[in-house]
Amino acid sequence: MDSKVVIITGATGGIGKEIVLSLFEAGHHIVVIDINQYEIDNMIDAYNSSKIMGFNCDITNEAKIINIFAQIYNKYKRIDGLVNNAGMQYVSNIEFFPTSRFRQMIDLLLTAPFIATKHVLPYMKEKKFGRIINMASINGLIGFSGKSAYNSAKHGLIGLTRVSALETATFGITVNAVCPGYVDTDLVRNQLSEIAEVRGISTEEVLSKVIYSLVPQKRLLKPKEIAHVVQFLLEESSGGITGQTIVVDGGYTAQ
Ligand code: NAD
Repeated sequence: MDSKVVIITGATGGIGKEIVLSLFEAGHHIVVIDINQYEIDNMIDAYNSSKIMGFNCDITNEAKIINIFAQIYNKYKRIDGLVNNAGMQYVSNIEFFPTSRFRQMIDLLLTAPFIATKHVLPYMKEKKFGRIINMASINGLIGFSGKSAYNSAKHGLIGLTRVSALETATFGITVNAVCPGYVDTDLVRNQLSEIAEVRGISTEEVLSKVIYSLVPQKRLLKPKEIAHVVQFLLEESSGGITGQTIVVDGGYTAQ
């Protein structure tokens, strides 16, 4: 595959880092967007390559996103891929869930991918090529107690994926969602600690007694396994796949 220009949001997190690594190894130009300046600096230093540039940006800030996309286009004269990956988690039953936190999560997990899609499409349409990959979750397919905001946003993100795919179908652009199950990242490890505290058991017991009882493969997925699917969807030969949800969950939703 020839070298592409791909934007990845939340690129310094557990899954984002692996997507960056996979795409870098495949020879692509990568634009890292995250709010963690320290991790952006570490990443840029570690790669030490003209093929990676970084922006510290809260992706809910539409004006900043417009400006960053314009800078990328001015530099490369193309934007081929967008991976809407940034995320956060908060677990609480609905009656105790702060409304401000609910709004914040919908803003980050659903409105921000809408904003990024909206402003990247003109660049992709101009070149009659584009790949948009929305990092959804099995939370976009089935309900999970305590995750009203995350679950609602991820269900919404799958809807956004389908609509975006339909609206771009004749422009050489594909839009797909990836739905990971439990991946071994900070986002999941923090949840394990929260569940452990609530239930008065150890984190390892949460894994063995709670999580593994739900996952047929009885393991956490590796971030690399998610990155692999993203890389596959970016390929030109994946052009017939659009509006789909690719589930990578160790069999969780097969039951
Ligand atoms: P993570 O917490 O390790 O990384 C999230 C990244 O998003 C961080 O680098 C963080 O700085 C960045 N971020 C947060 N708010 C931001 C903002 N306002 N603007 C820009 N960047 C922001 O999480 P992860 O596990 O790597 O998850 C990545 C994506 O995969 C998320 O969308 C998550 O919902 C999804 N997902 C993860 C799992 C899992 O098991 N880890 C499962 C299903 C789906």
